[in-house]
Amino acid sequence: MPRLADYRPDHLLTALPLLVAGLLIARMGQLNEFFQSLFNVLPTLLLLLGGAFCVVYGRQRELSLLVVVYLGYFLLDTQTDYFREHGQVRADAALVFHLCSLLLPLFYGLYGAWRERSHLVQDMVARAAVLLAVGGTCLALARRFPQGLQAWLAEVHWPLWHGQWMSLIQLAYPLFLIAGVLLAVQYLRQPRPLHATLLLGLVGLLWMLPNTFILPHALQVISSLVMLMLVAAVVHEAYQMAYRDELTGLPGRRVLNDRLQRLGRNYVIAMADVDHFKKFNDTHGHDVGDEVLKLVASRLRRIGGGGKAYRYGGEEFTLVFPGKSLDECRPHLEAVREAVEHYPLQLRDRQQRPKNDKEGRQRRKASGAGSVSVTISIGVAEREAHQRNAEEVIRSADKALYAAKRAGRNCVVAQGENRRGAVRVKAEAD
Ligand code: GH3
Ligand code: MG
Ligand code: MG
Repeated sequence: MPRLADYRPDHLLTALPLLVAGLLIARMGQLNEFFQSLFNVLPTLLLLLGGAFCVVYGRQRELSLLVVVYLGYFLLDTQTDYFREHGQVRADAALVFHLCSLLLPLFYGLYGAWRERSHLVQDMVARAAVLLAVGGTCLALARRFPQGLQAWLAEVHWPLWHGQWMSLIQLAYPLFLIAGVLLAVQYLRQPRPLHATLLLGLVGLLWMLPNTFILPHALQVISSLVMLMLVAAVVHEAYQMAYRDELTGLPGRRVLNDRLQRLGRNYVIAMADVDHFKKFNDTHGHDVGDEVLKLVASRLRRIGGGGKAYRYGGEEFTLVFPGKSLDECRPHLEAVREAVEHYPLQLRDRQQRPKNDKEGRQRRKASGAGSVSVTISIGVAEREAHQRNAEEVIRSADKALYAAKRAGRNCVVAQGENRRGAVRVKAEAD
C-alpha cells in the first residue's frame, strides 16, 4: 500500500492549472479571433501530435483516451456548428447529445482504469474492438429506432433519485459516478500524475457536457484542455522516469549532473553512505534493504541549510549546498546523521509473522528484537579556489567519506580532516 508521502501535490502540477484555466476561459462569453481559431484546431492538433507521441512511447491507455475525448468532441462540435449556423439544433441533436453523455463517461472510465497489457498491439486491438462493438451497436440502434432510443435515454428511470439540478440524462450520472470511483480508487492505490490527471479530466467532462449548448466555447476549450492534460501527464511521467529515482523518490544522478554544471563559485558537497549495508541486505533481505534506503532518503530530503539531496547510486547519496560554507552546513549534516541513527526501524520476518498484533507485541518484548538502527557516514567538502569543477569537489567529499568509514562510521568528516579529528567529532556528537 502507498504511504501518505506518496500522494504528492506535484501529481496535480500540470493538470490542475490546466483545468482551472480551461474552466475560466470557457466561462468567458466571447474569445478573440486568435483564441477562437486556436481552439478550433487544438483538439485535432492534440490528437495528432499527442497520439503520435503516445504511439512512439507505447502509451496505449492515453492514446485510447485521447481518441475517446476527440470522438466526443467531434460528434458534439458538428451539432454546435449547425446550431451556430442555423440558429436551431439539428433534428438528431438530442439523440447525439444523450448518447455522448452516456458513452463519454463510460469509455473514459473504462479506458482510464484499464491498465496497459505488456503486448501493445493486442491491447490496442482489444480497446478498438470494445469501442467499435459498443459504438457500432449504438449507431445501429440510433439508425433503426431513433425515436425509441431517444425516449428511452431521456426517460427518468429512477424517479426517487432524480434531482432538479440534473441537466444531463439521468443515466449519465451513475456512469460518471462509477468512473469517478474507479479512477479515485486507482489513484489511491497507485498515486501517480496520470491517475490524478484522469480524475481531473473526468471533472472537466462532467462540467463540459451540460454547458455544450449554453457556453459558446465550452466544448472546444474543455476538450482541448482535457486532451492537453493527458499529453502533459505522459510528458510529466516520462520526465519523472528519466530524472527521479524510482525507489526513493529523490532526484537521480542525471539531475545531479545537471545541477553540478550550474553551481557558481561557492558551494559544499557531501556524500552520504549507509553503513554496513551489504551485511544488512544479507541478513534481512533486499526488500528490507530497500525500505532502509527509502528511510534514509526521507530523512535526507528534509536536510536544512538550503541543501538538496540526490541519490547518487546504490546506497550513496549526494547533498549539495549552493552558496554555503562548510561551517554553515556542518550542523545540518550532523542533524541528519542523528535523525537516521535515532529512527527506530521496525523489522518483520515474513515467514514467522505473528497471527495478531498482541502476539507480535509480546514476541518483540520477549526477544527485544524487531527494531534495528541504521546509520550513515558522511564526507563533506567545500569547493576550494583551485578546484575547477564539481567532480573534483565530489572526489574530495568521497575521500572524506572513506575517512569517516575508517573512523568507525556513523560520523561526519570534512575534507582534510584526519581520522582522529573524525573520531573527536563523533564523540562530541554522542
Ligand atoms: P560500508 O559501511 O563500508 O559502506 O559497507 P557497505 O556494506 O554499506 O558497502 P558496500 O559498498 O560493500 O555494499 C553496498 C551494498 O548496497 C551492495 C548492494 O547489494 C547494496 N545495494 C545497492 N543498491 C541497492 C538497492 O537499490 N537496494 C538494495 N536493497 N541494496 C542495494
Ligand atoms: Mg557504498
Ligand atoms: Mg555502505
